[in-house]
Amino acid sequence: MLPAPAWRGVQPCFDLFPLLICSILLVGLRVFILGGGLAGLAAGCRLADRGDYEPILIERRPYLGGRASSFLHKGLGEKVDLGQHVFLRCCSAYISFLKEIGAWEMVALQSRLSLKICGQDGRVGRLAGSLLPGPLYLFPSLLRLPLLSPRERLLLLPALVRALTSSRRRDRVEGSFREWLERHGQGGTVERFWDFLILSTLNDHPERVSAAMGLMVLQEAFLNHHGADLGYPRVGLSRIAAKAGDYILKRGGEIILGRGVERLDLLGSRVRSVRLSDGRVLHGEGFIAALPPEGLLRILPEEWRLHPFFSCVERIAWNPIVNLYLWLDRPVLEEDLLAFFDSPVQWVFNRSKILGHAGPGQELCLSLSGARGLIPLPPERLFQIVLEELERLLPEVRKARVEKHLVVKQPRATISLLPGMEAHRPPSMTPIKNLFLAGDWTATGWPSTMEGAVRSGLEAARNLISALKGRPGEG
Ligand SMILES: Cc1cc2nc3c(=O)[nH]c(=O)nc-3n(C[C@H](O)[C@H](O)[C@H](O)COP(=O)(O)OP(=O)(O)OC[C@H]3O[C@@H](n4cnc5c(N)ncnc54)[C@H](O)[C@@H]3O)c2cc1C
Repeated sequence: MLPAPAWRGVQPCFDLFPLLICSILLVGLRVFILGGGLAGLAAGCRLADRGDYEPILIERRPYLGGRASSFLHKGLGEKVDLGQHVFLRCCSAYISFLKEIGAWEMVALQSRLSLKICGQDGRVGRLAGSLLPGPLYLFPSLLRLPLLSPRERLLLLPALVRALTSSRRRDRVEGSFREWLERHGQGGTVERFWDFLILSTLNDHPERVSAAMGLMVLQEAFLNHHGADLGYPRVGLSRIAAKAGDYILKRGGEIILGRGVERLDLLGSRVRSVRLSDGRVLHGEGFIAALPPEGLLRILPEEWRLHPFFSCVERIAWNPIVNLYLWLDRPVLEEDLLAFFDSPVQWVFNRSKILGHAGPGQELCLSLSGARGLIPLPPERLFQIVLEELERLLPEVRKARVEKHLVVKQPRATISLLPGMEAHRPPSMTPIKNLFLAGDWTATGWPSTMEGAVRSGLEAARNLISALKGRPGEG
């Protein structure tokens, strides 16, 4: 006799609740992460790690990484990043994230800061870390920096000491970083140094950056030993994002690409489901919105969009970055990267060397931060202006032929850090009980960077986990 199928004796069960609990115990709590930039990826990796969650990440574009990604320019047949990215050793969350997802080999991090800086007048200096501890390790090279006069160098030091020992609490330090500098005797020609430092790290000029953020950057870079060592990817940025995607998939998560979230459906003050651009409605227990601010507002029901917690994010403003990619017929640069003083071009990256591309020619990427005035220009005009500037800075370029070029304008590269802007950056916890926010624009305490994005994703995952404690499947 054939054995009876195991299900034969099972009575029809109309109460599905026990079944729901069983399935949750078996596959984990279904949680959604909306947006596949670094913030969403960091949240997804953290939730996938746990094993008792089933994270489902939804990204509108057909690839991951958001602003930290690459794209193929079909006309040129070249894959380039949306913008060249760098990080510092003090970006501890981003560094741990790279190590965790197995992408550490995809970046380079200097063992000791060494940055060649060229001035307009042909003078060249090097900002370099020394063996001195913590706050002092950059002082010897600052005291020797030939781009500044001996008087300017001496002028810098008391302000630096003051910056490193100041409280950066908003109630103690008000106004712009420029005002703070003026209060500490940093006017005149020494302004050039601060402009270079703040534009390179915060993507804006000291008069458009809050004093608290200016101090924050200095303290993170100087107070952490070797905090200013420079790091940069050795692969296209999308490969790092894809590695994070693999990490999620290997741990039982799911990734939906090329479908945007159109709407959140709520019951009372809980999200029940997300509606996708292909019409699907997906139900879950917890939701992390790692979207840009306007993307978040678009998917909220109107009554929540008008809630003061959410409506204030409309005030968040953005700063642009322009990148110019050049393919030259010969090498003009030996270093991995070079910085410029007193120039609209802050950095030039030797992409051929960094990415290990062999060839007789050389690929360069020029980065122009806070480039508000350049954004409206037609790409060809912009190319001419920036090329002329590069030829002045690196006369070797005049001998080379530009075989191809590409201007990549990002009008919304990073958020503005104007005084008062911090008040509009919302925390991760929202008045909607199972909705958490992530993104470099949320209240991370960091500027709008990869570090800020990763921190926000981890914080949102932490908040979601503790909010779902006590619900089915959570111990
Ligand atoms: C040119 C440039 C240069 C930069 N340089 C540096 C640098 O040197 N160092 C540094 O630390 N940082 C740099 N940044 C900033 C850094 O890229 C960002 O801080 C970081 O990538 C932000 O990540 P995020 O996840 O918060 O946001 P995003 O990357 O913007 O991710 C949001 C994601 O949500 C998706 N999305 C939007 N709407 C929907 C929807 N309805 N449904 C589903 N998905 C949706 C978007 O497609 C996107 O993928 C630079 C940025 C740019 C543009």
